[in-house]
Amino acid sequence: MLNLSVLLEDGARTTPERECLVFGDLRLNYALVDMIANQVANLLVSRGVKPGDKVALASPNVPYFPFVYFGALKAGAVVVPLNVLLTPREIAYHLTDSGAKALFAFTGTPELPLGERAYAAFGEVDTCTTYIDLPASPGAKESSIEGAETFWAALDGQPGTFEPVRTEADDTAVIIYTSGTTGTPKGAELSHNNLLYNAVCSSNLFGSAEHDVFLTVLPLFHIFGQTTMLNTALYRHATMVLQPRFDGDEALALMEKENVTVFGGVPTMYWGLLGAKGEHDIAKIAANLHTAVSGGSALPAELAKNVKERLGVEILEGYGLSETSPVVSFNNPKVKAKPGSIGRPIWGVEMKLVDAEFNDVEGEGPGEIAVRGHCVMKGYHDRPDANAQVLKDGWFRTGDIARRDEEGFYFIVDRSKDMIIRGGYNVYPRELEEVLMTHPAVSLVAVVGVPHESHGEEIKAYVVREEGREVTEEELVAWSKERLAGYKYPRLVEFRDRLPMTATGKILKRDLR
Ligand code: AMP
Repeated sequence: MLNLSVLLEDGARTTPERECLVFGDLRLNYALVDMIANQVANLLVSRGVKPGDKVALASPNVPYFPFVYFGALKAGAVVVPLNVLLTPREIAYHLTDSGAKALFAFTGTPELPLGERAYAAFGEVDTCTTYIDLPASPGAKESSIEGAETFWAALDGQPGTFEPVRTEADDTAVIIYTSGTTGTPKGAELSHNNLLYNAVCSSNLFGSAEHDVFLTVLPLFHIFGQTTMLNTALYRHATMVLQPRFDGDEALALMEKENVTVFGGVPTMYWGLLGAKGEHDIAKIAANLHTAVSGGSALPAELAKNVKERLGVEILEGYGLSETSPVVSFNNPKVKAKPGSIGRPIWGVEMKLVDAEFNDVEGEGPGEIAVRGHCVMKGYHDRPDANAQVLKDGWFRTGDIARRDEEGFYFIVDRSKDMIIRGGYNVYPRELEEVLMTHPAVSLVAVVGVPHESHGEEIKAYVVREEGREVTEEELVAWSKERLAGYKYPRLVEFRDRLPMTATGKILKRDLR
């Protein structure tokens, strides 16, 4: 028996009084969080949810997320976390595709009216029979959504103890729908074993301990936040300070007030920390912060250097995917790190390079990264065709193109899907983006291929200018031309105020194309 909920139960048993969650003025200890999760498990059983049934959860980083996540796991159910920005049509797709029996959704705020969207989707899907509204005000028994039952009304009278359902290590614990930067969303089935191992390995790499305080701002519905900022923290009985929406000044204020020791973010969040304009006691923040983790997209060397200078911490860059629970490798400055590398695989995980036919690529590559080991998903939910394409003999092919050096460090060249083919030449946008980012007037950039009559594709850069700086299309083309081979530099530049992003801070290149 290896139920992932052991992460919370162990904390409740051995450190019941220790603070588990901090959210605004709310401070909840391990015993209380575990008790509420037990009530959720009892509620689910009373509504006919059986082991293996799917329970969908649409919630930002508020205490409801861990209550429902662990409650459902204790009941032996499979959690299906949903991105909070989905439209009703998309939510309905996820409910249908996963076969969810129940949906818990945060009511939301005027800026994020999640509940209304979720309830509309619920009305469309007959197989989903229970809807529980997670109201913004804790304890509320009346829902602002007509006809919906609130969490607190549903929990009334449910016992606060529950014997977790026995699960096997390979049983599915969570289905993560991949971030949507590519194709139709597919549900990656992650087992209890997958997730537990990844939390333990991450925790060891962070060097985290019981007194740690995590700033949990990476969305928990995404696997990066879920494993590294929730499960990893719980494994060490640490405290999580929840921030539902990233804002650089607010994050620094929380770090200062709550003595945060571990921060995890995508590169855009690190830019946000550096760009914060408010007054903060940076010396105090830097003195407490011992671990900063980055992942989800490439960490520019310049950014890592600036963070080191300002916050005194060397960023631990990880690489991974939803399909790999997520952590595959770390570039670990405490052991050995190389600039621009995603490092070497974590304990118990192997990496190699393969070609389009899944044959091994020897030497430095480039080739597509394939991964084998305890982090690799069981497969996509109900997608035998997709599984046959990406899984072979325990190896999972990632779609990421990389090179490898003689010491086994991997360097990502690009996503295979993002590669531009211009006049027969392969162009990897990431290289161009790095060149453009070094221009002082460029704050953010994304390079994509756009259709072109004679070249097949033409290279186009979408650029967000640094506040108060001017630069022209001609200047940026000239800047790139000086630094890149003739077939590579962008011929077209378009300026934008912002670029479309996923909720986890990745640029949606598909939308730009
Ligand atoms: P997701 O499934 O949403 O977690 O996205 C996974 C993708 O994010 C990977 O396939 C990579 O393309 C990208 N990614 C994750 N970590 C890194 C990293 N450290 N450097 C570059 N790309 C990354």
